[in-house]
Amino acid sequence: MAKYTGPVCRLCRREGQKLFLKGDRCYSKACALERRAYAPGQHGQGRKKVSEYGRQLRTKQYAKRYYGVLEGQFRRYFAKAEKMQGQTGENLISLLESRLDNVAYRLGYGSSRAQARQLVTQGHIYVDGKKVNIPSYLVKVGQTVCVKEASRSLDLFKNITEATASRPIPKWLEANKGAMEAKVVAVPTREDAGLPIEETLIVELYSK
Ligand code: SF4
Repeated sequence: MAKYTGPVCRLCRREGQKLFLKGDRCYSKACALERRAYAPGQHGQGRKKVSEYGRQLRTKQYAKRYYGVLEGQFRRYFAKAEKMQGQTGENLISLLESRLDNVAYRLGYGSSRAQARQLVTQGHIYVDGKKVNIPSYLVKVGQTVCVKEASRSLDLFKNITEATASRPIPKWLEANKGAMEAKVVAVPTREDAGLPIEETLIVELYSK
């Protein structure tokens, strides 16, 4: 599946939930979903009965778009989650949360996951003191994640961290905001992620 390059607010309206793809705007009244809380297109405001398959598909699409992952990669995460101990759906969310681009976003190093991903690929984010420019890198408990020392004084990071200062940091990350670094102190759980979805629907979809 090709990367989506159209208007991103349309994706939120399709899913009927915020995907937080546009940074600060997502937290303001300018959010398209606040103003037009119905699906895009000519028939977007019509009442539709959603089938079970439809619910499963929309849930999967929501999770995929929330983390900015394409279909093939999402399926690989699912396959990995199936082999892990515990609930597959919860494992899947935990894996997605552990992605380095998501960790950077959660720590406020990006107004959106897309921006956080760009900063990772540009080499601004370090793990255990070494540059890691792979957004899909999965962090582990005990590792430290930080902004490259030379990048900390850049206006770019000052502006980003100011804009995201009020965003809560999940408890599985122990952050030192001033030093722009954090330690991974636990495996992220489904509750930590706070996704408004029933992940079991994704398991049902892929188990057909
Ligand atoms: Fe989605 Fe953000 Fe656009 Fe709102 S502003 S519709 S949350 S991308």
